[in-house]
Amino acid sequence: TVDKIWLDNYPEEVPHSIDYDERCLHDYLKLSTDKYPNNNALHFLGKDITYKELYTEAKQFANQLQTLGVKKGDRVAIMLANCPQGVISYYGALMIGAIVVQTNPLYVERELEHQLVDSGAKVIVCLDLVFPRVEKVRSKTSLEHVIVTSIKDYLPFPKNLLYPFVQKKTSGMKIDIVYSDRTLAFKPFLKAGKTDEVQVGMDPVEDLALLQYTGGTTGPAKGVMLTHQNLVVNTAQCIHWTYKTTPGQEKGLAVLPFFHVYGMTVSMNLGVMNGYTTVILPKFEPKEVLKTIEKHKITLFPGAPTMYVALVNDPNITDHDLSSIKACLSGAAPLPQEVQSKFEKLTGGKLVEGYGLTETSPVAIATPIWGKRKVGSVGVPWPDTEAAIISPETGEQAEIGEVGEMAIRGPQVMKGYWNRPEETAKVFLGDWFLTGDMGYMDEEGYFYIVDRKKDLIIAGGFNIYPREIEEVLYEHDAIQEAVVIGAPDEYRGETVKAFLVLKEGKSLTEKELDQYCRKHLAAYKVPRLYEFRDELPKTLVGKILRRVLLEEEKQKIAEA
Ligand code: AMP
Repeated sequence: TVDKIWLDNYPEEVPHSIDYDERCLHDYLKLSTDKYPNNNALHFLGKDITYKELYTEAKQFANQLQTLGVKKGDRVAIMLANCPQGVISYYGALMIGAIVVQTNPLYVERELEHQLVDSGAKVIVCLDLVFPRVEKVRSKTSLEHVIVTSIKDYLPFPKNLLYPFVQKKTSGMKIDIVYSDRTLAFKPFLKAGKTDEVQVGMDPVEDLALLQYTGGTTGPAKGVMLTHQNLVVNTAQCIHWTYKTTPGQEKGLAVLPFFHVYGMTVSMNLGVMNGYTTVILPKFEPKEVLKTIEKHKITLFPGAPTMYVALVNDPNITDHDLSSIKACLSGAAPLPQEVQSKFEKLTGGKLVEGYGLTETSPVAIATPIWGKRKVGSVGVPWPDTEAAIISPETGEQAEIGEVGEMAIRGPQVMKGYWNRPEETAKVFLGDWFLTGDMGYMDEEGYFYIVDRKKDLIIAGGFNIYPREIEEVLYEHDAIQEAVVIGAPDEYRGETVKAFLVLKEGKSLTEKELDQYCRKHLAAYKVPRLYEFRDELPKTLVGKILRRVLLEEEKQKIAEA
């Protein structure tokens, strides 16, 4: 059994509970269009798209999907980099009750095939650049139609003036696409669509909006079933948390990928639900981000820790006026304390750290923008959300300060894993979702993540949490990025190994590092091995891929 936990010091203007409208996510596109028809909904590499235009195109897409025979409950995959077509097809698919399957455009054929087969997607909207991969797996899937778009479909300027990223990616690449009844070009397909409103009976609480794939490290990726209500609630909670914003007037920067649940909720859905302008960047490049914040007077900038790390260390950051920033939300991985305070000083805005998972739509806990912050804590549960720690010893609620598995209960928790009732049963304790993260709660109800259960290093019988060592390494002023793994070791089972990227112009020897770590960590936690790299492998949301480094390490040992 787990008790309900509420925080007593929530201020009045941030109540424990919010009233959520029982609406579907796409209803908000209509509401924002009614309120702010001429506000720019999107800005993409020089082109503005108003709410009226976005809504019209989403309706056209919805009508066209129906002509292809797509019905409520059918799955529509979207495999795009951040671009307007991603927003149009997402909202268009939702309007007819279809379930969106966000697909990472970097997926190789094996991953793509698994996701398409598992979800049973009938249609995919993809970039021309990834079309050859889709074409290769197509016959093994239930895909009936492939809709192909080019990043250039929405660019206002001639090809030779393309944004450098787009130019680099597309120049010299010839992709053969044979259009047919089953392979359609996005732009003409869309433009032929009726602009009538689509009427489909929907239940926001029960009906799925999304299958979001996750957890490919321990077996095949599973589709997380998120309902319209899950997504609406999490977006409303997010706006509630960054509550000094004004509907219809903010400018959000979308550099987190929309195909990841985090970018989808805190960039795309947040913008549309609140009538904001979303300025889309297809890729994180510090120079472009700094220029865009200054030029567009960005007020909200959700990002990942590695993005804020790169920005605070960018030698040009002080040349830019970043004072428009009101609030930033960092998520997906731990945010070093020092980076948070540096970034806040540089911009004058607040940088909130959020914690959550795909299964929680994704945010469940965050540092308060009001009130007290605590070093190392991810903060307190969001409104209507409860968090608890389950003791590994007793399976009951842990004592204050005791490390156990984090559990979450709230309206943003998923319905379950698609077609996997057994996997679903494993992660629920009643209506509490077991996160697989280890953490503890202090006497004031603040939560601390110690690590992923599966990242725990057991060296010579000692339990070591990599995050604690990484925090110490990040505090060193020569270190830009650090990640710690348990490298296989004949004698100790595992041994602590740190991978490091140094700041530009800094140097550091292993001996100096060893002395530094010995000062700040118990001897058994001090890394035995160090490796310096120019960069670390990362996901597109900037999460350092510990797993890739671990695999490389195992490979090295196997070959030795
Ligand atoms: P995903 O489902 O891909 O979003 O990954 C969720 C996992 O990211 C969680 O289970 C955590 O291990 C990790 N995570 C997310 N936010 C944070 C945070 N603020 N601090 C530490 N770990 C985090």
